[in-house]
Amino acid sequence: MTKLILMAAVLLAVLTAACTTHPDGAYQPPQQNLFDEKGLSKTEQQPQPQLQEPVLKPALPQETLQEEGAQDQFYHVSRLHWPHMPVTYFIEDEDGCGRYEANRIRRAFRDISNATGNAVLFAQANDSGSADIEVRCSFIEDCYELSTDIYDDYVIRTETICQHPLGITKTLAEGNRLAKAYIELVGLAGFAETRREGPSGFYVGTCGHTITEVHELLHAFGYGHSEDNSSIMNPEADVFSLTIQKEGACKGSEKAIDASITAELVNTYSGKYKG
Ligand SMILES: [Zn+2]
Repeated sequence: MTKLILMAAVLLAVLTAACTTHPDGAYQPPQQNLFDEKGLSKTEQQPQPQLQEPVLKPALPQETLQEEGAQDQFYHVSRLHWPHMPVTYFIEDEDGCGRYEANRIRRAFRDISNATGNAVLFAQANDSGSADIEVRCSFIEDCYELSTDIYDDYVIRTETICQHPLGITKTLAEGNRLAKAYIELVGLAGFAETRREGPSGFYVGTCGHTITEVHELLHAFGYGHSEDNSSIMNPEADVFSLTIQKEGACKGSEKAIDASITAELVNTYSGKYKG
């Protein structure tokens, strides 16, 4: 008899959970669209190439979201935060991103972990649906141009790269808990990844730093743009360089994560606030 009552109680709990988490069986998107951020672009000078928006899909079943909400490891933290650590990620079509950019994305994860003394950690998810942060790559067409002018005794080669967002991040939150982030990194078409020639389309026009990747990842942690030029969250980081850098041009162009952001991340995720 006791066993029967116990079984009934268990069944009720499951049903109740199912009722509260799936009121009508339909996926409810997270309540708050924190921001839908795009990098700066000189639209007044250049027609803005159409970039595909990250496709919003029901990444986590509502049940999982609520369970995670109930198990917020950082429930004492009032500011926006991921409710667990490590934060998981998945690089969609990693082959399409290419080895260079995939490495740069992973370097950005390490940069943030190192800067925070491993208070912030990342782990690879099995698929994009279960990942906290979904990363994908896209390539912008007709953005790079190389012209060669031949004169009597010299040649002038001119390279131009249209100004375009290097990264786009969409971050979703429920209350003060981050629920999902979509990061799209934009490379140039016509190079290693798309035409199998030349350097990476993510390298051309940059200094090879992880500034864009770190910047987008920090959007995924709830950080918005800063007007401070020295901040990694200055939107100019999204449109860092326009042309292939001349030798020495990259000197001093690396940007560290702002000390204030690092300190806040450490405070939030170091477990200091845990009860
Ligand atoms: Zn940005």
